[in-house]
Amino acid sequence: MILDEALKGQLAQYLEMLENDIEIKVSTGDDETSKNVMELVETLSSMSPKIKVEETKLERTPSFSVNRQNEDTGIVFAGVPLGQEFTSLILALLQVSGRAPKIDEDLAEKVKNLDEELNFETYISLSCQVCPEVVQALNIMSVLNPKISHTMIDGAVFKDEVDKMNIRAVPSAYLNGEPFGDGWMTVEEILAKLIGGPDASEFADKEPFDMLVVGGGPGGASAAVYGARKGIRTGVVAERFGGQILDTATIENFIGTKQTEGPQLANQLEEHVKDYDVDIMNLQKATSLARKDNLIEVGLENGATLKSKSVVIATGARWRNVNVPGEKEFRNNGVAYCPHCDGPLFEGKRVAVIGGGNSGVEAAIDLAAITEHVTVLEFSDSMKADSVLLDRLHSLKNVTPIVNAQTTEITGTDTVNGLSYIDRETDKEEHIELDGVFVQIGLVPNTDWLEGSVDRNKFGEIIIDKHGATNVPGVYAAGDCTDIPYNQIITSMGAGSLASLSASDYLVRHTESSEDKREKELVEK
Ligand SMILES: Cc1cc2nc3c(=O)[nH]c(=O)nc-3n(C[C@H](O)[C@H](O)[C@H](O)COP(=O)(O)OP(=O)(O)OC[C@H]3O[C@@H](n4cnc5c(N)ncnc54)[C@H](O)[C@@H]3O)c2cc1C
Repeated sequence: MILDEALKGQLAQYLEMLENDIEIKVSTGDDETSKNVMELVETLSSMSPKIKVEETKLERTPSFSVNRQNEDTGIVFAGVPLGQEFTSLILALLQVSGRAPKIDEDLAEKVKNLDEELNFETYISLSCQVCPEVVQALNIMSVLNPKISHTMIDGAVFKDEVDKMNIRAVPSAYLNGEPFGDGWMTVEEILAKLIGGPDASEFADKEPFDMLVVGGGPGGASAAVYGARKGIRTGVVAERFGGQILDTATIENFIGTKQTEGPQLANQLEEHVKDYDVDIMNLQKATSLARKDNLIEVGLENGATLKSKSVVIATGARWRNVNVPGEKEFRNNGVAYCPHCDGPLFEGKRVAVIGGGNSGVEAAIDLAAITEHVTVLEFSDSMKADSVLLDRLHSLKNVTPIVNAQTTEITGTDTVNGLSYIDRETDKEEHIELDGVFVQIGLVPNTDWLEGSVDRNKFGEIIIDKHGATNVPGVYAAGDCTDIPYNQIITSMGAGSLASLSASDYLVRHTESSEDKREKELVEK
């Protein structure tokens, strides 16, 4: 049975919410996945009188499209949208039936106004936690605009296609046959790619903020909520609202919530911040910070300057690169950073993990279950992971740990075919033949933009005191971009609230009250 009783139960509740009739057009063959696709659509139809199924021939087999009565929407699922994509299927059914998608009105209007044929295709894996966000965003766009179509393609089913196109990371979106974008993308981000983001003029009229938060991860979101709850004028400027949790699979240590998924938590953070009167400026990168008179000026990549009486920096961290030839060239073409997302694309293949710390060894253990073989390369003379992880690693027959290995190059032609390293004990160069490399050597703080303005330590982390204060008056910092010893969601949130409270306290002490001002004016007169 393709759907177990629990899934059927969930589905039944949603199918009752269908507003209008839906036509599913299905294209199947004799293979096992085709049987599953057929069973899935027949189950859907048996559970709701509003769903009709028609056999047809679509561009890919097996696949099926979800349409309004007598009107194709362009939404196609190639493969079986279960696993992480089950929600995408349910949402597509509801939205095609007429239920309004959850999207800001002005964004929806921008999507409706797109006036060209846009044929999107997204390669996904059913275990990828980030993929549904992209699938759902593009499906919403297809629902809203008849000129837009979108096909979700399960890379594990269409392996030949994935191999031919050298796709080694998901989600991987294509527009009209050309690469469009990799990784997490919201409707807002897709629109920014299609028609550009706001230019500096849209920021020109903004009055100075009381508190400007730079960064929209757990630390920034927490700082913004605390700021807004003080009733002060709060803004958040973020390159990508959500931060690292957008790349995080299951989270089991967010106390009070036994288990959640990164993208889900990111949505909850955004909803929570939006509950308050906070000016969220998403998809905007801060490039400079300077204190001028009594205000702090934050420059943005688009040329705009935001002014604020206080600033909380929570710009987090990003994957550390190994910085060898081939890493940049083969990124997403065999070089990957997210084993949860991209592991399934290396099924039955040979891969390496660079890094023998906890994240590297965890990645190797996960990958060993999917791939033919995993080599773990550690620069120092011993693996750095916890012993419980190392015991597990050593028990796996298809894993080779190598210590004293300095990676010198990731080799390949169209895609990765190997890795060269120097054995630091013998000084000899070695080469291993591989199909993929996962880089797991930690994180680097996103603080380059503060060069010369805020004090940082030798790792680039912002130096803060116990109040979250930096060396610049009125500028506070929180989370992974700072020199706190542990980088976690909950520690970043705690630090965000601390920095925000300290910034509010700073405002109380340093902002002139209107009475003070009047007194000063009188004296000046
Ligand atoms: C794969 C993975 C799995 C993880 N699993 C867990 C887990 O299970 N549990 C746990 O507690 N922690 C986990 N973590 C760690 C956790 O995600 C981080 O500690 C946490 O997200 C840090 O929050 P932050 O707000 O400090 O920074 P980030 O989450 O990095 O957010 C930084 C924000 O700043 C923005 N930004 C960066 N530069 C700029 C700029 N110049 N201008 C404007 N905005 C900018 C970013 O776009 C983002 O919005 C995991 C991390 C990873 C990568």
